[in-house]
Amino acid sequence: MIKFLDLKKQYLSIKDEIDAAIKEVLDTQYFVGGPVVKRFEKNFAAYQGAKYCVGVGNGTDALEIAIESLDIPKGSEIIVPANTFIATSEAVTRSGHKLKFCDCKNDYTISPDSFELNITPKTKAVIVVHLYGKPCEMDSIMQIVNKHNLKLIEDCAQAHGAEYKGKRVGTFGDIATFSFYPGKNLGAYGDAGAIITNSDDIAYKCSMIRDHGSMRKYLHEFEGRNSRLDAIQAAILDAKLKYLDEWINDRNRVASLYQNELKNILEIVLPPADNTQRHSYHLFVIRTTKRDALAEYLNNNDVQTGMHYPIALPNQPAYSYMELNDSIKNAVQWDKELLSLPMGEHLYDSEVKKVCNLIKEFFENQEQN
Ligand SMILES: *Cc1c(COP(=O)(O)O)cnc(C)c1O
Repeated sequence: MIKFLDLKKQYLSIKDEIDAAIKEVLDTQYFVGGPVVKRFEKNFAAYQGAKYCVGVGNGTDALEIAIESLDIPKGSEIIVPANTFIATSEAVTRSGHKLKFCDCKNDYTISPDSFELNITPKTKAVIVVHLYGKPCEMDSIMQIVNKHNLKLIEDCAQAHGAEYKGKRVGTFGDIATFSFYPGKNLGAYGDAGAIITNSDDIAYKCSMIRDHGSMRKYLHEFEGRNSRLDAIQAAILDAKLKYLDEWINDRNRVASLYQNELKNILEIVLPPADNTQRHSYHLFVIRTTKRDALAEYLNNNDVQTGMHYPIALPNQPAYSYMELNDSIKNAVQWDKELLSLPMGEHLYDSEVKKVCNLIKEFFENQEQN
């Protein structure tokens, strides 16, 4: 069986360190917040090249807290790319704002053209998503954001460690959010998330919101919520952080192999390779009109695949109330064609080649039929 993701193998490779990290928390008995959480926040901020990191309960809360911290007038429009996980758009609506979708381009990140086209006088912010670990086209996005005086939130849930022109993602805008859901490139053993920012005021505000509007116990400056980072999760994340760059390099090894082995198959569209950026390859996503048959063929041959995402957000029942906007053609069509191949540091070259050979075989069989 070639697994899509192998968290057990990762755990066994650093078991002693993880077990010791958990034990440290049991010894301190600080389960929510406390020294281990502070240490991870400091290390993660340094890793991403940001001044502050505020640990929170999960990546969805991180987005909601980030939006709230920016003091955007209620009912403003916030633009979100149509090809992302629903957490990105949910956070907009749940924060009392109006959601506006825009399209993605051929690397599946936000299309700067479509983003600008969807700006109205009510638009106050944009959430860009470094989807699949691929940094968005930040030069164009920054230009548009500055021209229209918008707030910029970066959803980095899939892009820990990714870099755009030598700079880690998450520090281009006002604020950025991360998820440490177990399957992410840096994953906890439960839910966890974080916010990073270079702004003193925004960091302070986020720290208050996540803890009932409070910085001092039982003194509440405003109503916040509970979304604190669990210390056991922080300890695990801190132990794993040391390996993250190595794992990302391994993901890039797997991606290069896929690119090389699959480049001559005309029926599939590979993710565009871009050497000026550091892709963190949370996912390696190809496109083919034979997607469902190919997925079935791979599955029958013991290769697990995924689909990210099988129903584009504008096609979801949750958004049936919105008018389908002509300017989001790519995202609403490609959901039937996207296929995520096995990806992670767990894969041997021989396994990647086996997946590629099966894909070649599949398309050769297609031609004969
Ligand atoms: C995983 C993910 C989230 C949500 O994170 P959770 O920790 O699961 O709440 C948000 N945005 C994107 C792009 C994600 O992939």
